[in-house]
Amino acid sequence: MANTISNATYQQLEDILAVNIDRERIVTQEAKRLAYGTDASFYRLVPKIVLRLKSLDEVIFAIQSCREMAVPFTFRAAGTSLSGQAVSDSVLMTLTDDWRGHQIVDNGEKIILQPGVIGADANKYLAPYQRKIGPDPASINTCKIGGIAANNASGMCCGTAQNSYRTVDSIKIVFSDGTLLDTASVPGGQDDLRLLQRGSEFTIMAGSTSLMNSRMSGSEEALASLSWAAISSHSKPHMLIGGLGMGFTLRAALAILPADARITVAELVPAVVAWARGPMAEVFGTSLDDPRVTIREGDVGALLAGDNLYDAILLDVDNGPEGLTRDSNDRLYTVKGLRRTLGALRAGGVLAVWSSHTSAPFTKRLVTAGFAVTEEKVRARGAKGGERHHIWLARKPALRG
Ligand SMILES: Cc1cc2nc3c(=O)[nH]c(=O)nc-3n(C[C@H](O)[C@H](O)[C@H](O)COP(=O)(O)OP(=O)(O)OC[C@H]3O[C@@H](n4cnc5c(N)ncnc54)[C@H](O)[C@@H]3O)c2cc1C
Repeated sequence: MANTISNATYQQLEDILAVNIDRERIVTQEAKRLAYGTDASFYRLVPKIVLRLKSLDEVIFAIQSCREMAVPFTFRAAGTSLSGQAVSDSVLMTLTDDWRGHQIVDNGEKIILQPGVIGADANKYLAPYQRKIGPDPASINTCKIGGIAANNASGMCCGTAQNSYRTVDSIKIVFSDGTLLDTASVPGGQDDLRLLQRGSEFTIMAGSTSLMNSRMSGSEEALASLSWAAISSHSKPHMLIGGLGMGFTLRAALAILPADARITVAELVPAVVAWARGPMAEVFGTSLDDPRVTIREGDVGALLAGDNLYDAILLDVDNGPEGLTRDSNDRLYTVKGLRRTLGALRAGGVLAVWSSHTSAPFTKRLVTAGFAVTEEKVRARGAKGGERHHIWLARKPALRG
């Protein structure tokens, strides 16, 4: 279909793009546009604008700007596509050399690749571990991860068994409305976690369940304030927070705990910590670097081995004591697990458990394990209302005398 969008619209778009993207990476010179107008196919379309984008923020901004002006855009990696997928007569988005990063994970079991990495380079990085990426297109010496993933490239050896769809563990995607999606697998869990960003709003989902949203922080903040109220007479308090999430509980605790307090936060999913330091950095502010805070990547259960370690243990690692993201969290909520947690608390300490719902059997188990239990109903949006959530405050008896 012929492009009927006027040159004036492209001029206007160029000016909008130049607000956040350096002019020298907004390519409009005819010769250069012509050069970008070919890929390995026999089609030729000359783009009106070629963008050389160097960051995720720029990608989101460029996509949103095109969408607002109703201007179509196409991505291009190495341009080895054979069906004309990487040519455009409108806006062509390419990525600069800033997108060639990689990180080896689990001794070569996995590799994190940016979309500008050439396929053969990925294999070079993995060779010392005697591993390689799944897809093996014949163009692997030229084509890039962005194109390999988008095309679900296959090859003579991988067939369909080891193509991108079968071998990608998690992926960061920007949708055509500029929404960012990042996914992460939960060690030992069933559903992947997904981070969705729409403007300044973030949501973390497990499967189709929304676990948390950046506009609903009331009950997670209450977890910190109710716990602190229970132990405020303790000197040099040590608080263990199970689950970093969006950091609401951590930030609320930092606001009320004294300067000599210690806060240890256990987060099982490394990507959640990476999201906190990356796309959600503005939400987290300086909280992760506060000298009172230690972030431990791993299972909160592993930090409960030992006696008299903490004044408060705050658990917000699931949707409630019946587990959701991880079956093995169940052991936190059994009588045996709760007795272990009781041991990890100092006398007079408190275990606080966040849940989206109440559970009479869990209350019973807390009592059986030796806790004195009260329950609080809290609202997702604090004073503004919202969904009702549930917090158990389970106290370890204080020493007598
Ligand atoms: C000689 C030759 C041999 C080939 N052999 C094979 C083969 O064996 N198996 C096979 O599957 N293919 C093969 N191909 C086709 C092609 O090389 C592969 O599909 C390759 O993976 C495309 O990668 P690219 O980096 O060139 O992507 P491009 O051609 O630049 O783009 C491919 C697609 O991905 C999209 N895209 C690119 N970057 C991004 C991004 N960052 N985000 C979202 N979308 C993006 C583009 O819009 C386009 O639709 C061959 C091509 C040639 C020329």
